[in-house]
Amino acid sequence: MGKEIETPSPKNADTVQTTELLNRHWLSKNVFEIELARPKSFAFEAGQTICFHHESLKRYYSLLSTPDDPILKLCVHHVPKGLFSPILADAEIGSRFKFTGPHGYFTFKPSQRDPVFVATGTGIAPFVSFARSGIKNFTLFHEATTAEEIYYQSYFKKIKSTYHPCLPSPQTAAALPEGMHQGHVAACIKANLPRTTYDFYLCGHGDMIRNVTLLVDEWFTGSYVYTEVFF
Ligand SMILES: Cc1cc2nc3c(=O)[nH]c(=O)nc-3n(C[C@H](O)[C@H](O)[C@H](O)COP(=O)(O)OP(=O)(O)OC[C@H]3O[C@@H](n4cnc5c(N)ncnc54)[C@H](O)[C@@H]3O)c2cc1C
Repeated sequence: MGKEIETPSPKNADTVQTTELLNRHWLSKNVFEIELARPKSFAFEAGQTICFHHESLKRYYSLLSTPDDPILKLCVHHVPKGLFSPILADAEIGSRFKFTGPHGYFTFKPSQRDPVFVATGTGIAPFVSFARSGIKNFTLFHEATTAEEIYYQSYFKKIKSTYHPCLPSPQTAAALPEGMHQGHVAACIKANLPRTTYDFYLCGHGDMIRNVTLLVDEWFTGSYVYTEVFF
């Protein structure tokens, strides 16, 4: 069960609250998942973010957990020379952090069109929350630099979503793990997604979001595009 922190009921998403680091485990040499205490009255929708306030820094992170989870979970890329992610990577269990939230509008909007989720790296986080919240019948494309950075693949394989992990860097056919595509996610979408209209949800690196939006304009005319740019 999650550990509750007593804070006054937040008046709005900009009310500063306190949380405590409960656990951390590394998913790869660069990325870790953390668990945080969930303040009693903190409510959010799948796909929303929280913002840490640390001294003069503010940093946003997508919630990996679902609205019903007793704790808050995040999936964080450790940027070695970054100002804040190394603090989260090194903090003692039990450390307290200030945050605001929930923030953002990158939530699921049901429609007649099939949903297509597209992520780079830790941009997979809101889609884990969508899927764990019960959203089904989506197609997911996830690009990462190495096979070990295709996080949550066993989960997505288990729930039998239509799942396309992609590795852009040159790989020999023999080195490419089974079921993974070689190439950037935009090329993978073009090669694998039937040409009709969809609701695209794009999350992660700005270059991917630009490239996939251009592809949608050209190839999937009439589709909707929702975006969450991490950097
Ligand atoms: C709405 C929103 C949601 C976000 N959600 C997440 C999330 O769920 N997980 C997460 O890891 N980050 C997320 N980010 C990025 C996060 O807010 C920070 O920018 C990141 O942790 C780096 O902060 P830093 O202070 O360590 O690095 P800084 O000193 O601010 O250095 C910034 C540089 O770090 C690199 N960088 C930033 N984010 C990433 C990343 N995710 N992967 C690889 N390199 C990166 C880029 O080169 C960027 O120019 C999100 C950003 C936004 C705006």
